[in-house]
Amino acid sequence: MENKLRFYNTLTRKVEQFIPNVDGKVAMYTCGPTVYHFAHIGNLRSYIMEDLLEKTLRYIGYDVKRVMNITDVGHLSSDADTGEDKMLKGAKREHKTVMEIAKFYTDAFFQDCAKLNIKTPDVVEPATNCIPEFIHMIETLLEKGYAYEQGGNIYFDTSKLEEYYVFSNQNEQELLVGVRDDVDEDENKRNKSDFVLWFTKSKFDDQELKWESPWGLGYPGWHIECSCISMKHLGEYMDIHCGGVDNIFPHHTNEIAQSESYLGHKWCNYWFHVHHLNDKSGKMSKSKGDFLTVSLLESKGYDPVVYRMFCLQSHYRKPLEFSYEVLDNMSAAYEKLVKRIGSLQQEGELDQEQYRAYREKFESAICDDLNSSMAITVLYDMLKADISDATKYALAESFDQVLSLNLTTAHAAKAAENQVDAELEKYILSKIEERKAAKKEKDFAKADAIRAELLSQGIVLEDTREGVKWKRA
Ligand code: AMP
Ligand code: ZN
Repeated sequence: MENKLRFYNTLTRKVEQFIPNVDGKVAMYTCGPTVYHFAHIGNLRSYIMEDLLEKTLRYIGYDVKRVMNITDVGHLSSDADTGEDKMLKGAKREHKTVMEIAKFYTDAFFQDCAKLNIKTPDVVEPATNCIPEFIHMIETLLEKGYAYEQGGNIYFDTSKLEEYYVFSNQNEQELLVGVRDDVDEDENKRNKSDFVLWFTKSKFDDQELKWESPWGLGYPGWHIECSCISMKHLGEYMDIHCGGVDNIFPHHTNEIAQSESYLGHKWCNYWFHVHHLNDKSGKMSKSKGDFLTVSLLESKGYDPVVYRMFCLQSHYRKPLEFSYEVLDNMSAAYEKLVKRIGSLQQEGELDQEQYRAYREKFESAICDDLNSSMAITVLYDMLKADISDATKYALAESFDQVLSLNLTTAHAAKAAENQVDAELEKYILSKIEERKAAKKEKDFAKADAIRAELLSQGIVLEDTREGVKWKRA
């Protein structure tokens, strides 16, 4: 089939035409969340833009298989092999077991994704499901001489590679975006850039999850999971590997080192990285400042889909700064947009020529390095154009397969919600009147019963100087 899509490949540092290994099929892998806390909306920016890539591929006709891991073991807070184990940190914080924490935050992650219309990947695999695969890969790396045992741990020997810093010719210092917290040197390492494949001796005596291995009771390093899980489901050749820019080093660099040493050939052709969402103070964090989550946005009255639109209005290769002011503008624009689409007459003949022309415009925008804001401009232009309502409606429905902004359903859903609200209000006001009458007749038991009845339905009555008011509990 025709390969129309072009996007930036971090490996070659160029915008390239995408050509999969097998014509018409795409093997795609995404680094999943570390499930020790809620995802912040920065993490979710990455997943929104990866979802956009997957949906673009499907839209232009590829058969995509997408795999995602769930990191429930081995990810230390520095992204290198130092700092605390993130899962352990979460378990201690909430006085729960690591597995309870993993289950809770995995579910929370997919609930957030659903609210943002992020499709669940075809395969989702927690790291703790794949311990035998990790052990097998590490054994092979030891046999091939790419790994060594030192101080009880197994390390990958980066000096055995022709090229370790595959993503750029920058030095390690410049690449250390991912290293966040305390960094202390591990004296067992032969080379500074070596990394742990399997821990048996770590500074966490209280490490909860441990498994038997040929090297003793222990647990895997973080990087090995993505190599093994992707190969388990996608085989030895992969087309696209995704993640946020902080994953480039050391995580993806190490994934390539161990995967290609294990396989003996090139592993993945295209690396897709999403730039960060920042807050005013800089990098978004789960521990400092406002912890921005989807639930927080909802509690402030925002529709999560408006945050998706906020992300789509900016290019995935540019850092994006979050602000409520911009989100407010986006909310207003979104409401107008879906109202406009909701007012279109759906019935009638399609103008096939216009339909094809606008689909092509939309495709060429989105296929041009995922220019999502241009794709939204095509949507606006199309709505303004002199074409039939039915054609506009069909085009909005079609574009939404990629944009996933509930373009054709939001308005009706909102109207139904308003209808329910109006009926509810009528019912509550009638109850308030009934209670007032009961009070007048000094039937306080009845008045209290009415208040209790409403409370059981989540409605609280408040007696104020201006009369009785109600609110949701
Ligand atoms: P983690 O749960 O820390 O493993 O991260 C999940 C995903 O979010 C990874 O792909 C990260 O690269 C990405 N990520 C982390 N911080 C941000 C941010 N501020 N903006 C966008 N993506 C991020
Ligand atoms: Zn990964």
